[in-house]
Amino acid sequence: MSATGTQRKDVYPGTSGVLLALQTAKRRLKGPMARCDQGYICDVCGEEVEDITESDLYLRYVLGEVPARDLMSAAERHLRCNPVTAQFIIDPAFDPVTVEGSFDKRLLDAEEVARLEQRTTRGWRRLQEVRSMGLSLAEYPLDDASLDDDLHSGADG
Ligand SMILES: [Zn+2]
Repeated sequence: MSATGTQRKDVYPGTSGVLLALQTAKRRLKGPMARCDQGYICDVCGEEVEDITESDLYLRYVLGEVPARDLMSAAERHLRCNPVTAQFIIDPAFDPVTVEGSFDKRLLDAEEVARLEQRTTRGWRRLQEVRSMGLSLAEYPLDDASLDDDLHSGADG
């Protein structure tokens, strides 16, 4: 029997295959809305982000870097899948993350690194607690989360 036809089909998936891919992509984009039947899907590794304690998106929300209205639409990912932020989490309960390349914190100003470590670690610790504390989503961000903008524009000056 000739397998040529079958092979060609595999190389060029029909319209149904493309539609399926589109549907899958849409589903992944939907992310947060699909919370009830499945967790958020990590933008980087494609695995489920099972808990907000391992969520990079929620860490950045706690830090005041992501507004609440963006939680539903922003891409979700694991803390470890965003090493550029995760490298600043310094806690015995969190395995240190190292970044190779231009975002390596060892290339940054030591004072800035210390400040980011303190802040990111504080946000991470809060992220571990918020649910057991029974806080509402609006109460997740750090008290001084709104000051975060100053961090980038030079609060000291
Ligand atoms: Zn991931």
